Amino acid sequence: MRIDVGASSDIGQVREGNEDAYLILDPLFAVADGMGGHRGGEVASNLALEIVRSRFEGREGSLTEQVEAANREVFERSQADREVSGMGTTLTAALVEGEQVRLAHVGDSRAYLFRDGELHLLTEDHTLVHRMVQEGEITAEEAETHPHRSILTRALGVDEAVQVDEALVRIRPRDRLLLCTDGLTGMIGDEAIRAVLAETADPQQAVERLVRSANRSGGVDNITAVILDVRDDDHADGPGGGEGGARERHGATARPTERHPLATPTIPVDLDEAGPPSRPKARSGGRVLRTVGLGAGVTLAVVLVGMVLLR
Ligand code: MG
Repeated sequence: MRIDVGASSDIGQVREGNEDAYLILDPLFAVADGMGGHRGGEVASNLALEIVRSRFEGREGSLTEQVEAANREVFERSQADREVSGMGTTLTAALVEGEQVRLAHVGDSRAYLFRDGELHLLTEDHTLVHRMVQEGEITAEEAETHPHRSILTRALGVDEAVQVDEALVRIRPRDRLLLCTDGLTGMIGDEAIRAVLAETADPQQAVERLVRSANRSGGVDNITAVILDVRDDDHADGPGGGEGGARERHGATARPTERHPLATPTIPVDLDEAGPPSRPKARSGGRVLRTVGLGAGVTLAVVLVGMVLLR
């Protein structure tokens, strides 16, 4: 197996800076979406990915441990530097290991698998509204427009330890993985994403179409998408037939990003239970909910207080 990559990160139509980042370090790929005042978000996402990069290159620990190390680094920087106090970042990473992909995930960036024309969401959003939907407090439809849909229940860099979701996904030639930030999924729905992935064979052209589509839909947040096309080594030029033709490899010029590790619960992903594509959600900014153990109603109150304090 080899991977052909497309990657794009765009500031969008509204934001004054791009706090998203991505990492292309074949066989390791990641996206991160930073948050925090001043330059905090940008610092958090890039620092997290840089730590993951250095630990990976140094063969230090597992992917989850690398993400956990990034968490500590971002947290310590946040504590030490008032300019970036309170910063944090999402991080969704994919490590290709032969015929499987290992995922590590914190926050509301997402990993999808596109296979046989269908889109499967591989990650769970660590957001307040997702939890409220799970607990039956609001419907999925209400979550789409909920005023607090941007609030994260987990992020890197906001505490000394973080819980990292892990998953292993078996891959095969012609599979397509998409890593993306909420600036994409908040602007266009899964069906629109699926259609682009189905219609656009070249991975770089596909990510650029996704970004354009999100911008046309408003582009209210930074938009980042990384596509990993799984190729059969035996067919150097576009294995899998349908998408034939040699592809350029992209990503060499990708700006470095990082992502950050957390503690280590494992979420097994069974594609047969991956269910239908999730609905589009919007988020801007993003504040981190730190009281993860409480019920959603209580946490919402805490969040509201926190948001007031942050203003
Ligand atoms: Mg975002």
